Amino acid sequence: PTRVLTGITTSGTPHLGNYAGAIRPAVAASHVPGVESFYFLADYHALIKVQDPARVQRSTLEIAATWLACGLEPDKVWFYRQSDIPEIPELTWLLTCVAGKGILNRAHAYKAAVDKNRAEGEDDDAAINAGLFMYPVLMAADILLFNAHKVPVGRDQVQHIEMARDFGQRFNHLYGEHFTLPEAVIEAQVATLPGLDGRKMSKSYDNTIPLFAPRPTLKKLIASIVTDSRAPGEAKDADSSNVFALYQAFATPAETAAMRAAFERGIGWGDAKQALFERIDAELAPQRERYEALMAKPAEIEAILRDGAQRLRVAHATPLLARLREAVGLRDLS
Ligand code: ATP
Repeated sequence: PTRVLTGITTSGTPHLGNYAGAIRPAVAASHVPGVESFYFLADYHALIKVQDPARVQRSTLEIAATWLACGLEPDKVWFYRQSDIPEIPELTWLLTCVAGKGILNRAHAYKAAVDKNRAEGEDDDAAINAGLFMYPVLMAADILLFNAHKVPVGRDQVQHIEMARDFGQRFNHLYGEHFTLPEAVIEAQVATLPGLDGRKMSKSYDNTIPLFAPRPTLKKLIASIVTDSRAPGEAKDADSSNVFALYQAFATPAETAAMRAAFERGIGWGDAKQALFERIDAELAPQRERYEALMAKPAEIEAILRDGAQRLRVAHATPLLARLREAVGLRDLS
């Protein structure tokens, strides 16, 4: 089977962008015959940005409940928390020792942080933790440990998959063919959803619409989406509208075409937002109910996660690490 891997960082409450961009397509893909799916809660990755333990814990629970509420079947897929698999940080170190530092210097996330420092007149590396610099190696370990073939990603992540290939290839070259080299699957048809302020919706920007916000909150947040000041009756540009971009992610092509026509006819922002609210609420209401029920039983979620990690370690992670330790000249732990 083809192995497909998807992770979500446990850095906050999951939002509409995570759902439309990752969760909804990943759950749909898991029902395709011949696909073996790996879903994980990226809590080691979260520590790069979030140093608030309560937030990481809460986010872990919320994201786990979200996957389950959206139809992930824990008996049919691999579902686990990254930090429950000690072989991941162990592999990270083995890969660190073959990874070119120059390659990491060129990683987008690190370069963006350096550019921001320069723009603010700071030293290049001011306030940048080494975790941010190393994150492509941790991500390579996430992927290579399970020999994942396909990693669905947005365009900005393609570089990181190429790095994982590069580190895997170097390791194979030095120590024998241990790793399958992964391929990025670019989700061209999956749009990046804008947040309330028009920037990319992101847990780090505080501009999100939480996926399972209670109905009145959902309505209030949608009402606060930034729009231009065109009045009802004035034609509106669908392609530059955040309201339209969100609508499109939740509507059928026919509904989207009808909304585009309504924009041209000059639908008022209040009416457009009401239609958006109704569309999103209709899609999410059943999952929201399951989510709330799951959140009331954290011990059950915890048991599912532990069981998933335990089975995955036995089936894949522990035997692979034993082979890798031997390959590089470390002692056999078994
Ligand atoms: P952070 O701010 O902590 O990086 P994030 O909310 O931007 O978090 P991640 O947890 O890094 O998101 O990403 C999880 C998945 O959700 C990825 O597959 C990513 O492509 C997808 N995703 C995140 N934000 C959006 C968005 N605004 N639109 C579409 N997909 C998104």
